[in-house]
Amino acid sequence: MKRILQMLKLQQSLNDATNGKNWEAGITKNGKLIDWKRCTYLECAELIESYPWKHWKNIHAEPDYANIQIEAVDIWHFIMSQGLQEYKVNHTGSIEALAEEISTLPNFQPFTEALSSTKKDIYAQIAVVEVLMKNIFCDSSTSSLMASFLDVAMQSGLNLETLYKLYVGKNILNQFRQDHGYKEGSYIKIWNGAEDNVTMQQILEKEKEITPEGLYAALEAAYPKG
Ligand code: MG
Ligand code: MG
Repeated sequence: MKRILQMLKLQQSLNDATNGKNWEAGITKNGKLIDWKRCTYLECAELIESYPWKHWKNIHAEPDYANIQIEAVDIWHFIMSQGLQEYKVNHTGSIEALAEEISTLPNFQPFTEALSSTKKDIYAQIAVVEVLMKNIFCDSSTSSLMASFLDVAMQSGLNLETLYKLYVGKNILNQFRQDHGYKEGSYIKIWNGAEDNVTMQQILEKEKEITPEGLYAALEAAYPKG
């Protein structure tokens, strides 16, 4: 539960910094409407795009699991934000109470354990992502979205420990993007021919015990100088 709480707190700070205080009211400091559910289902679509699902294109390609994990982490940013917003707006309780609720989800226990790779074929895996999307479109509760997310995370090869590590990585990258003109459209996303996510994952793999500050500095050093 400590890991969940840490992630929720990081997400709260990222949202406060990016969208301004009181983003929970549903509007950013720049007057843009916030819709976490739309954010989430579009990231689900990005995740599905990392599978070779098209019957007319690259039919022998393998799933891109490195990117599938990144998209799962993107989904997690938005589902946590939805939970944080609801807790605030409905006066449900503190961030600690939200972390507690997540840790009592029926599939939370297996999520904390070591994972073996999924036996499901790609179509069955995509169907698990679509369960999450259906839950969004049917306006299911945030806790059922979170439970469906845990199923997606586990089949993507993520457990609590690896989700945490990648989440912190992506959170820092999102902060880095905001500090380098992402909202204004001047941010450079392709570094040496690949998305910035790839460099972030390489830094995490190379430096086993990296701190958030250390990762930020390593991103700074690798950022292409326009
Ligand atoms: Mg996206
Ligand atoms: Mg994405």
